[in-house]
This record gives sequence, C-alpha cells and structure tokens, in this order.
Amino acid sequence: EAKRDPGTSYRFYDRQLHISAGYQLRLETDLRNALRGGELELYYQPRIDLATEEVRGVECLLRWNHPERGLVGPDEFIPVAERSGLIVPIGYWVIEQACKRLQECTELGFPGLVFAVNLSFRQFHDRKMTETIFRIIFNANVDTSLLELELTESAMMHDPEYAQRCLRELNQLGISFALDDFGTGFSSLSNLQHLPISLVKIDKSFVQELGQSADAEHIIRAIISLAHSLQISVVAEGVETEGQLEFLRQQHCDEIQGYYFARPMPWQDLVEFMNRRNQSACLQK
Ligand code: C2E
Ligand code: MG
Ligand code: MG
Ligand code: MG
Repeated sequence: EAKRDPGTSYRFYDRQLHISAGYQLRLETDLRNALRGGELELYYQPRIDLATEEVRGVECLLRWNHPERGLVGPDEFIPVAERSGLIVPIGYWVIEQACKRLQECTELGFPGLVFAVNLSFRQFHDRKMTETIFRIIFNANVDTSLLELELTESAMMHDPEYAQRCLRELNQLGISFALDDFGTGFSSLSNLQHLPISLVKIDKSFVQELGQSADAEHIIRAIISLAHSLQISVVAEGVETEGQLEFLRQQHCDEIQGYYFARPMPWQDLVEFMNRRNQSACLQK
C-alpha cells in the first residue's frame, strides 16, 4: 500500500483537497447566515464541586441548528469559523448570550452560578477585544465575578504580550480565566504563575485513560498538585464513570464536569435540572 504509484496518490489527494475547499466555502457561507438567522444556540453543561456536590457553574457550548443537517457540534464548524475570522463576531454573540442567561439565573432563584465561555485563539487577533467585551458586560449589567473565560495555551502564542494585556485588563474587571484542555499543549508550567489564571481544566483524554494507563494517573496527580501549590483550582473534564470520580476525589480535584453528572443541555433543560437539584437539596435539610 505504501508503494502506491505516486501519481495516483497525488491526484487522489488533490481531489480530496478540492472537495474539501468547496465544502469549506459552503460551510462558511452557511455559518455567516446562521449567526444572522438565529441558528446558533448555547447548550449548558453543569460543573460540580466535589466537596459540596453543588453545581458551581456551567460551561456554555455552541451548537448550530442547521436547517438541513440538524444539530451540528462545534468540532465541525469552529475550525471553519476560526479560519474565516467569523469566530470573532460569533464569540461576542456567545458572551452576550451567556450574560443574558446569567441575569436570568438571579431571577430564577439560582444566583452565584458561574458561566464559563470558551475563547478561541483567533479572538485574540482582534485589537478591540477588551473594549468589546467590556461593552457587552457593561450593557448586560452582570456580576463579572460570575463570568469565566476559558482559553487554551494556543491563545497566547500569536502575540503573547497583547494576549497577556487582554487577560490582565479583563481580570481587573472581575472576570476570571481558566486554562482549557490542560496537559495537551506545551505548557511551561512556570508560565501559569505569571498569568491571571485561577483554574485549569484537565483534558478529558487523561481522565478517560484512568484505569487503563498508569501515566494518566501520574499526570493528573502532578497537575493537581502543581496547580494547588500555585493556588489554582482544578476541574476534570470528561468524567463518565464512578471509578474516575473516585480517583479524582482521592486526589482532591476541586470540580468535575462530565456525562456522569450531566451532559450539555439546552437552556430550558438546565432550568429544570437546577430546580430538581434545589428541591432535593431542600428535602435533605
Ligand atoms: P471544550 O471547551 O474542551 O469543551 C468540553 C467538551 O467536552 C464539550 O464538547 C463537551 O460536550 C465534552 N464533554 C463533556 N463531558 C464529557 C464526557 O463525559 N465525555 C465526553 N466524551 N465528552 C464530554 P463540545 O460541546 O462538542 O465542544 C467541543 C469543543 O468546541 C470545546 O471543547 C471547545 O473547544 C469548542 N467550543 C464549544 N463552544 C465554543 C464557543 O462558544 N467558542 C469557542 N471558541 N469554542 C467553542
Ligand atoms: Mg472549554
Ligand atoms: Mg476542554
Ligand atoms: Mg477542546
């Protein structure tokens, strides 16, 4: 197989590329319309505090209700949105929407819920990032200490100085930051202490290898102990089993997020989920 005629494989590759370029363009046009046409929606996945078992917050996760293709997940369209730059306006829409829901939470009787929003590296190319986010949260009049922005290490790579300045300015407004997918990048761990990061999220790939790989255990232990020594909290992502949960509890992981507790869900389902939990908490008292 490896010794296939190079001419043939080139043509094959070329055709693949061609299809994929056309597909990309179509996706990009559709996505532009989706933002205008209200086809984008946020799903919310609860994050549970391991010590108190309370819902500490929710991560806002983008979904696209495509008129023909149904519900499309972010792994399919975020890369296109990033390449085209559309992630910039989409990203602001996400923050606006999250702020709206944050306000509603107070009215619904679950105050203090943290709303976490993902930021793409590409949003740090926007020179008006801080200004725009400031305007959004000012207009929404939300408690900024309940707003958390998740970024990956790649966000800092294009222009580290600018990115750090954005983080500091937003942090001064009360917004906190989480480092997402932690462990998968090239984190120089010492970098953490120079940034206003209050949380790291252990990537789900490590959590899902628990019980199958001793390395995963060592890595998770090391991340938790390093983070804690820097006064940084730890969330484990992708927790699906009791066994994973128990290991994380023993390691004093602060919070967990995963299908074991709840999947990402539409806003109405989250409201019901929260009401159910509040009710059973009252019964226990
Ligand atoms: P992420 O920020 O690391 O989000 C966590 C992902 O893990 C979500 O996938 C969530 O549904 C999934 N997940 C949570 N618990 C489990 C579990 O127990 N098992 C498994 N298998 N998966 C679990 P989702 O919603 O498909 O999002 C994928 C990625 O898309 C996100 O990864 C994030 O990088 C990106 N994304 C989502 N929404 C946004 C957004 O508004 N803006 C930007 N820039 N990126 C976004
Ligand atoms: Mg995230
Ligand atoms: Mg993640
Ligand atoms: Mg991710």
